[in-house]
Amino acid sequence: MTAGSAAAPVKAAALPPNATIGIVGGGQLGRMSALAAARLGYRAHILTPEADSPAAQVAAGTTIGSYDDPDALRAFAAAADVITFEFENVSAVGLDLLSSLRPVHPAPAILRLSQERVTEKSFINGAGAPTGAWAPVNTPDELERALGLLGMPAVLKTTRLGYDGRGQAIVRTPEEAHAAYGRLAPAPFILEAFVDFACEISVVVARGQDGRIVAYDPVENRHRNHILDLTLAPAQITQELALQAAGIATDLAHCVGLVGVLAVEMFVGRDGGLLVNELAPRPHNSGHWTIDACPASQFEMHVRAVAGLPLPAAVRHSDAVMKNLVGPDDLALWPRILAAPGLIPHLYGKAEARPGRKMGHVTRLFPLGALPGAFGVEAALGVFA
Ligand code: AMP
Repeated sequence: MTAGSAAAPVKAAALPPNATIGIVGGGQLGRMSALAAARLGYRAHILTPEADSPAAQVAAGTTIGSYDDPDALRAFAAAADVITFEFENVSAVGLDLLSSLRPVHPAPAILRLSQERVTEKSFINGAGAPTGAWAPVNTPDELERALGLLGMPAVLKTTRLGYDGRGQAIVRTPEEAHAAYGRLAPAPFILEAFVDFACEISVVVARGQDGRIVAYDPVENRHRNHILDLTLAPAQITQELALQAAGIATDLAHCVGLVGVLAVEMFVGRDGGLLVNELAPRPHNSGHWTIDACPASQFEMHVRAVAGLPLPAAVRHSDAVMKNLVGPDDLALWPRILAAPGLIPHLYGKAEARPGRKMGHVTRLFPLGALPGAFGVEAALGVFA
């Protein structure tokens, strides 16, 4: 799906070939962004505290240092023509320093918004997009009031630094809620009504510096132990719902003045309604399938937007299933994955396979319209049975 945005176009000169894109963060998202940058004739320069990071292994240069260290930030900025991020949790001080030195896309204000769940939910609702009911919780008394307001079950979450199910707890009784408050402390928290969803979907949108917005079709995401396990592209939902989801994501990208890629995670309620869960202003795990199934992947879209290049349509030539390789158990399947016909392997170059760590992913392509149903997906990924 492709939509022309009504936003006032920003005239910016495109980054010339051989220019350097600075990427804050050395993980797999940075690695795949750096690979996409290389294909477009750019160099990537990574800022990471880690030696031999997945992104640095495929980048032209690396600054090793902390995201809060002014000297490291200055050295990194000096090596880059434009700066972007592969993760959101960079300190405000770091963001301000970087944006005083080089153009930063997406804008630091967008990153700040996605770093804090109350600000994020307020923005989403303010932009006219639906979420489940929620309330900020800063004290045990506020927790009591919020429980009265939202009912139970509910989900108590820290407002910052939560990912892959960390920093949150489902609470079914006031006692459980107060115990979770103590366990997840310190405040601030957000309490969310528990959404009894039929499935989880996400939409990846990109917005260029000229204001053009493109959106990949919504995909369905299935989790295992709170970590993304499978993405089915496209989501098996009605066309009407798919259009509605893409519309919500497009509106949010427009409202926030995005330059880059934004992933919008949503719940499909049992009543068929859509509720936005959260935003990630960067390439997203649920968009990895686009590398193999689309002429232009989410990583290429991100690089193009950051570099001021035109955005192509976010179309796919194939349907796809993406399976994450998580921890040592999935990694042990690597030899069988390599020998399995039809599986497209991706490994991130991480030295140590700790439980819960994303080590790589595989994609399986299907002709358009031929994505199998639940049992077929299992069969298609037979190596994992
Ligand atoms: P989050 O960190 O907000 O993305 O949450 C991680 C996962 O927890 C989501 O993908 C959902 O599967 C589940 N989850 C989060 N919030 C809720 C909610 N309000 N109701 C039901 N499930 C939730």
